[in-house]
Amino acid sequence: MSHNIPITVSLQDQICFLIGEIIDMLKHQKWWYYCCLCNAPVSHVGNIFYCYLCKVECVDAIRRYRIKIIISHSNGSNIFILEDDEVMQILKKSCSYFLIDERNSSQLKDDYTVPNSMIS
Ligand SMILES: [Zn+2]
Repeated sequence: MSHNIPITVSLQDQICFLIGEIIDMLKHQKWWYYCCLCNAPVSHVGNIFYCYLCKVECVDAIRRYRIKIIISHSNGSNIFILEDDEVMQILKKSCSYFLIDERNSSQLKDDYTVPNSMIS
């Protein structure tokens, strides 16, 4: 997963534009989350998902990427978070694709490890 990627970074009230290369990703951190159709992250309350924005139980939560990557740029390297839209542009596959793929393969791991099929 080595891509030159322009990234827009929000630092408090400033927006910076950065061009760098993805040199690594944090593989042992949670790389996806459940999200309501309204785009708000949902909370796991007991056995249900709850959207605090819609204020209802979320029965159709979708899974979205949130991957922490390390970008090398002209001034060094930093960790950034790639959101769902950006990861989709790079991988051209949905988050669910890799989660289903993971379940079918023998290397079933916890939700916190980025699957090998995504990196290669
Ligand atoms: Zn919602």
